Amino acid sequence: MKNKLIAANWKMNLDSEQSEQLFEQCAELAKCISPTLVICPPATYLQTGNKRLANSGAFLGAQNVNQNRAGAFTGELSANMLKDCGCKYVIVGHSERRAQFGENDELVAEKVKILLDNHLIPILCIGESETQRHLGLTDSFVTYQIDSALALVDESQIHKLVIAYEPIWAIGTNKTASITHIEQTMSTIVKHLINKYQQNVVDKSIHVLYGGSVSDKNCEAILSLDVVDGCLVGGASLDFNKFEKICRAN
Ligand code: PGA
Repeated sequence: MKNKLIAANWKMNLDSEQSEQLFEQCAELAKCISPTLVICPPATYLQTGNKRLANSGAFLGAQNVNQNRAGAFTGELSANMLKDCGCKYVIVGHSERRAQFGENDELVAEKVKILLDNHLIPILCIGESETQRHLGLTDSFVTYQIDSALALVDESQIHKLVIAYEPIWAIGTNKTASITHIEQTMSTIVKHLINKYQQNVVDKSIHVLYGGSVSDKNCEAILSLDVVDGCLVGGASLDFNKFEKICRAN
């Protein structure tokens, strides 16, 4: 059994005082629970996070990266800069970035590559829209997203990889996918990864998370599924009591 991984995606929320407090609470929590914690704050709080999470066992993650190594890219952050701030993980391909910032499959693949080239661990988000689900296209779409996002990297680069299955219709909506839907889709994802990279690579190097309205109420049922190696938590990660319950579930 893999150690579970719980990642917090704070998105564009909190101020410096609130984030400092939440970092401290998460650092204390990480010392006494078994899942691996990854906290992904807004970029302006990465350096504080690096200090506050030091020696706690929790890891720092970023919410985005630029696909280029360096240069004239006003407003952007490189993989190397994120590493410099103490990041170990970076969220990539989140549906909000795909929908609101025009990130397409090719760009997501380039971002995955620059992260792995820099020994950062991608948290690659995939997931179908409501229309795709209704048309019965979920499985073919998520497997296509995996293949296209990993098109530029070879197996030898995959020392660690996180894939977060987040149905778009379940993100921030309180409409969590049903346990049956989660189990079926995530089994498809895991089988696809085993075909692609073999069982031992998947067992050793890849965590497959569920994300989308994970809460203190539904976390037990979701985390008890064998195919679920952890969760990516948005809204509920901003409330420490709820987040603690999710981290202590199972
Ligand atoms: P949510 O967000 O938990 O608020 O649905 C999850 C995510 O977007 O990663």
